[in-house]
Amino acid sequence: MDIPFIDIHTHHSQNSEEIISVPSFFLQDVDSKNEIETPFSAAIHPWHATKFSFEQVSAMLENLSNQPGLIAIGETGLDKICTADYQQQKLLFELQLKYAENHHKPVIIHAVKSWNDFIPFLKKARVPFIFHGYSGGAELTKQLIDLGCFFSVGKLVLQMAPRFREAFQIIPLTSLFLETDDSSLDIRKIYREASEILNIPLDQLKIQLNENFKNLFHLQE
Ligand SMILES: [Zn+2]
Repeated sequence: MDIPFIDIHTHHSQNSEEIISVPSFFLQDVDSKNEIETPFSAAIHPWHATKFSFEQVSAMLENLSNQPGLIAIGETGLDKICTADYQQQKLLFELQLKYAENHHKPVIIHAVKSWNDFIPFLKKARVPFIFHGYSGGAELTKQLIDLGCFFSVGKLVLQMAPRFREAFQIIPLTSLFLETDDSSLDIRKIYREASEILNIPLDQLKIQLNENFKNLFHLQE
């Protein structure tokens, strides 16, 4: 197989010869009786934080342990714009981060106006953080790079605002992923655009992001 395009975070999985996509499921939708063999992530989304108690989420996480395809916990995180109680979001984020650490899984982070609240977690986290739908400015990006973060960028690649271009260009290639998230965009289009903005050949970008994927998730050929 040629080097695939990796869509690290999507809500519309479209695996093909050319594309490996990692669907992101809401934890409450994962059926514990149905084994999922292909790579996926799952978590309670911060939007749904007040729908579930700490105990309910703990029980749902325990059921995940039997899922062979689980490669990451996410999307989880903190969202200051949504209506879900922020304290409850924090409580469930901590719970899910602890689960990820115990099971050696990276976390895929949904962050809205909450960047600074992740810093204390990042300083002591034992698993990699991937900030998905990343849109931060250059200053924040530098700070997160120093903390060892990974970044997944989606549709913003196609609407590259000057403010974000600088940030996008300083992300080390070894810390970068691309995604379609909830859009119906073609991941190949996002790769092509990214390779132009970063001024590197498409093949080189594919090779590097595929390496990142295998390294971060400890996947074998
Ligand atoms: Zn998403």
